[in-house]
Amino acid sequence: MENLFIPIGGGNEIGASCYLYIVSGKKILVDAGIRFSKREPYPDFSFLKALSPEIDAIFITHAHVDHCGSIHLLSSLYPDTPIYTTHETAQLLALMVEDAIKVRYIADRNSQEEWKEYRLLDEALSRVERREFFDRVQLGDVEVVFYPAGHVLGASSIGIYYGDGSMVFHSGDISLSVQRTVGRAELPSEKASLLVLESTYYYSDRRFRRGEDERELLKTVRKTVERGGKVLIPAFALGRAQEILLLLSEGMRTGAVPPITVYVDGLARDVSTLYENLLRKTLFNYYVQPAPSYQGLSFEEACRENLREADCILSTSGMLVEGTPSYIYSKLLAKDPKSSIIFSGYMAEESFGYRLLSSKKLLSAFKCRIERHHLSAHSDREELKEVLDTLSPERTVLVHGYPSERERKHHAFNREVVRF
Ligand SMILES: [Zn+2]
Ligand SMILES: [Zn+2]
Repeated sequence: MENLFIPIGGGNEIGASCYLYIVSGKKILVDAGIRFSKREPYPDFSFLKALSPEIDAIFITHAHVDHCGSIHLLSSLYPDTPIYTTHETAQLLALMVEDAIKVRYIADRNSQEEWKEYRLLDEALSRVERREFFDRVQLGDVEVVFYPAGHVLGASSIGIYYGDGSMVFHSGDISLSVQRTVGRAELPSEKASLLVLESTYYYSDRRFRRGEDERELLKTVRKTVERGGKVLIPAFALGRAQEILLLLSEGMRTGAVPPITVYVDGLARDVSTLYENLLRKTLFNYYVQPAPSYQGLSFEEACRENLREADCILSTSGMLVEGTPSYIYSKLLAKDPKSSIIFSGYMAEESFGYRLLSSKKLLSAFKCRIERHHLSAHSDREELKEVLDTLSPERTVLVHGYPSERERKHHAFNREVVRF
């Protein structure tokens, strides 16, 4: 029987991840994400529905919204299909998707469409089946196993076992480095027939020197505070924010930074609180605290108040998306040459953060210092090669990246049909 792999979204892009597998006659869908772009935020669900009117099971690899942000819309198209994910992802996903809906309707608060999406999300959440890592989901003759992918809490790779011991390995977003909140990815011992591998940094020569970049970040914080400035660290809500929060606490313990007050704000605050429960570990302490909420103050006044109280603000969005807390903090700090904004990761081209870093005119309006220290929850090229070496697949297909024309040979584009 011919087996197929088709990216519905998230093939030649980072965003809207959604991949259809047809293996031994079973139709398996992995992820249902969104794009940052407002024009076309979703995977092509009408193409999917035409291709596969029924689906046997949906699997969600992790709770970043480029992998789960449209789960409620997908699930409404396949209301009888169970959704499988890990315990941690199930909890984080509810928070992340709800926030993504809130952001989508920011200019149209409380509209009927917004409430309809919350309803669909509630329905989708009731179809979620929670699993542990290494649990097996049986779909007829096909067996699906969750492997820890590192990356962020709850993140999994998916192994699809079929035929006489054949296996497809879908990496999802994967990291082989140990982080403060999550261990390294664990790979199966079997050889893969097909490896579908994320390629966020596959086409880049950048080597991650985590320790070095972390020391540089702490140094920037220390210097800024010593000259009497404030620090803003825009960070992704899930994963990055908790890693930086722990790094700052560690920096204070070792003396790399003096004792300072750090406020964690925006969605990063809520996700950090959930991380504390899921990890059974305290993230907040006397110095690092959730930013307080104020009664009777406007959003901007509350940010102004927080800047008066704290030396350092760690806040979402990581890309300074307009209207988010980090965007407001950046505007408040822009005129102060003593202060710093520290970017720590990926910027989508349509974001304000990206435009700021690539426009001399915009940059010149910012008198505060702007620094970039690259911390990543993804594997770099060397680590991705290690995944390849370990699984020694008969065939590898790259997704979740931007290949050049020359590199497209091993890459699956959206709607491309891969037979195996
Ligand atoms: Zn991710
Ligand atoms: Zn991703």
